[in-house]
Amino acid sequence: MSESNGSHDVVIIGAGVIGCAIAVEMSRRGYRTLNIDKANAAGSGSTINSCAIVRFTYSTVEGVNFSWEGGHYWKNWADHIGVEDELGLIEYREVGQVVLLRDQEDHSARVKELWDELDIPYELLSRDEMAERWPWMDHGLYGPPARPDDPDFWRDSTGTFTGALLSPDAGYVSDPQLSCHNLQRAAEAAGAEFRFKTEITAIDRHDGRVTGVTLADGTTIDAPIVVNVAGPHSSVLNKMAGVYDSMNIKTSALRHEVHHVPAPPGVDFLADGVVGADDDVGFYYRPEAGNNVLIGGTDVDCDPQEFVDPDDYDQNLTEDQWNAQVLRASRRMPTLGVPHEKKGVVDLYDVSDDWLPIYDRTDLDGFYVAVGTSGNQFKNAGVAGQVMADLIEAVEGGHDHDADPLVLTGRYTGRPIHMGFYSRNREINPESSMSVHG
Ligand SMILES: Cc1cc2nc3c(=O)[nH]c(=O)nc-3n(C[C@H](O)[C@H](O)[C@H](O)COP(=O)(O)OP(=O)(O)OC[C@H]3O[C@@H](n4cnc5c(N)ncnc54)[C@H](O)[C@@H]3O)c2cc1C
Repeated sequence: MSESNGSHDVVIIGAGVIGCAIAVEMSRRGYRTLNIDKANAAGSGSTINSCAIVRFTYSTVEGVNFSWEGGHYWKNWADHIGVEDELGLIEYREVGQVVLLRDQEDHSARVKELWDELDIPYELLSRDEMAERWPWMDHGLYGPPARPDDPDFWRDSTGTFTGALLSPDAGYVSDPQLSCHNLQRAAEAAGAEFRFKTEITAIDRHDGRVTGVTLADGTTIDAPIVVNVAGPHSSVLNKMAGVYDSMNIKTSALRHEVHHVPAPPGVDFLADGVVGADDDVGFYYRPEAGNNVLIGGTDVDCDPQEFVDPDDYDQNLTEDQWNAQVLRASRRMPTLGVPHEKKGVVDLYDVSDDWLPIYDRTDLDGFYVAVGTSGNQFKNAGVAGQVMADLIEAVEGGHDHDADPLVLTGRYTGRPIHMGFYSRNREINPESSMSVHG
């Protein structure tokens, strides 16, 4: 069976937060888009388990700029969506982010430098001010991060932080899957279509150009433009399209555990908590429903890196990683308990070779990629939608993006976005943190 009546201009593979954001942009520009997802609803892939933290602490000028632009979408969500959603809209909880400072050239110092250069707002807090705002926080230096079975894990503090930066615009999105439903409704209002429980098994091509996709039941769907937004399955789809080998930067699926622990006694973490990333002990955190603290790892060297088959991996929390992450958190939050019952989620990052995303065309004309989101692009879905639509329009209009990389303009900030930074053919970017920080 073939759906070759020219009814779709663009097939978008995946209906996660980025696939849905691209659908909004392209359908509003008049393209007839079709998102195809093998799951049964929007946002059921890795997006459903995203921590959905919105922060501006990247290691590069482009990374900070992009996230600052991306943050504006969440602040202006109702306007961006522009329609009713029967399930309601997400809330953007602007609780702020704390960045701990020390007398050392580390990631935090780099962030401060970038925020100064790019005029990103922050407050500088003394240790007294930190103690007043977050009385549950220990200010000791315990790093570098270790595993709990390493005797160094329990060492006494070797000093204290000198203070902190507070980024008041940072926060988190209440419900990452609902954000996809909101985007789906916005795209549908502009004519977009979504098809669920439908697996793509081949990318069709003719004469060096994509012609559509083939589904598991053998149906082919014709479209002159196909966008790979398959999250942790991105490399599977790139191989299907025959473009995997031609890309200098590759992607692979990395297993990641996130844990939920009751807040320290007497602390209303939902009201008084904050987002934080702590490179000294090696964890990140934010408030979580039920007065919990959500805890993730910052990909420290002593932790195992588990690259897996995205269709076959252990989806259970492990004792080892639970202990490592929760005990690390308890160094910074000394009254935090370490419950016996493990709670949290396991999911996959779609990690690129340098932990920076790839937003680009490919060597197969008409086949585009928004992949390699490396555990850090939920916050950027809105701007990713914009730049992918701009890029696709320019390339389809004849622009040679490989020879002359596009410089786009952020819708909210008016700042330049250098798309060569996101190229599939870049060299590994040495400025990247090579971690979830990006
Ligand atoms: C545990 C965790 C925590 C994170 N925390 C943060 C955070 O705090 N802040 C932040 O900014 N980012 C975070 N991220 C990253 C962020 O969530 C992702 O970058 C983002 O959700 C990716 O969205 P996506 O649309 O690209 O992919 P996905 O949401 O994974 O969607 C891809 C879709 O493609 C579909 N698909 C795959 N193959 C096929 C096929 N053959 N046929 C049809 N459909 C297919 C899948 O079913 C899936 O629904 C986190 C990620 C994880 C896993």
